[in-house]
Amino acid sequence: MGLKKALSDFFDKYFFNVKWRCVVCEKEIFDGGYFCKECEDKITFNAGAICNHCGRSVLAPTEYCSSCKEFALSLDMGRSAFIYDKPISTLIMKLKYGGKKFIAGIFAEYLYYIYVKFGMCADCAVFVPMTKRAERKRGFNQSKLIADKFSALSGVPVCDCIAKVKETERQATLGRNKRMINLAGAYKVTDRSAVNGKSVVIIDDVTTTGATAEAVSEKLKKAGAVKVMLLTVASVPSEDGY
Ligand SMILES: [Zn+2]
Ligand SMILES: [Zn+2]
Repeated sequence: MGLKKALSDFFDKYFFNVKWRCVVCEKEIFDGGYFCKECEDKITFNAGAICNHCGRSVLAPTEYCSSCKEFALSLDMGRSAFIYDKPISTLIMKLKYGGKKFIAGIFAEYLYYIYVKFGMCADCAVFVPMTKRAERKRGFNQSKLIADKFSALSGVPVCDCIAKVKETERQATLGRNKRMINLAGAYKVTDRSAVNGKSVVIIDDVTTTGATAEAVSEKLKKAGAVKVMLLTVASVPSEDGY
């Protein structure tokens, strides 16, 4: 590392650290925190009515939203901190594709808050894995980064015991039904003893339809997990609101 780079890193870290610039728009802030006033005002917390099962936003509180009703459910409970919308979606992109790893630590703080708020008591945490190839390409798995930071805050140990053994079609363009088919056989528990008889919390960045978490949860239950919960940074509201 050249001296110039070392100096600029030093200044970035100690003088322009994350607490001093808005993590979304990078505008300078003076009163601490992660967001400037403008960005903070735009954040949508997932604090309204939710589906008690998957945790996605709905119009009126319900035990099972319309998409949860359609599927065999192995997941016991899902919760997310934010609604998937700007500026949180921008922040997720910055973490995943912009390599801003420190954002994982910010998300973990909110996840820990939700974890405590809903009394999600887990023996261990797992993260949604990527295929080895995909992880090599990106250089890291954002869900693992978030899980590690969450673990540091909560004391819940992370078990690296699931592998993604099959690349799946891009999920964003598929409906939940197709996603379930797409995901069948994509995940494998590599160490059953790590989850057998335990309460497990799955950590991930986004709940879109909940299909990924269902697929992982099914494998965890088959491996002997007694309870499986899902904790994500943001979730997409239920399509029809019910
Ligand atoms: Zn801002
Ligand atoms: Zn639901």
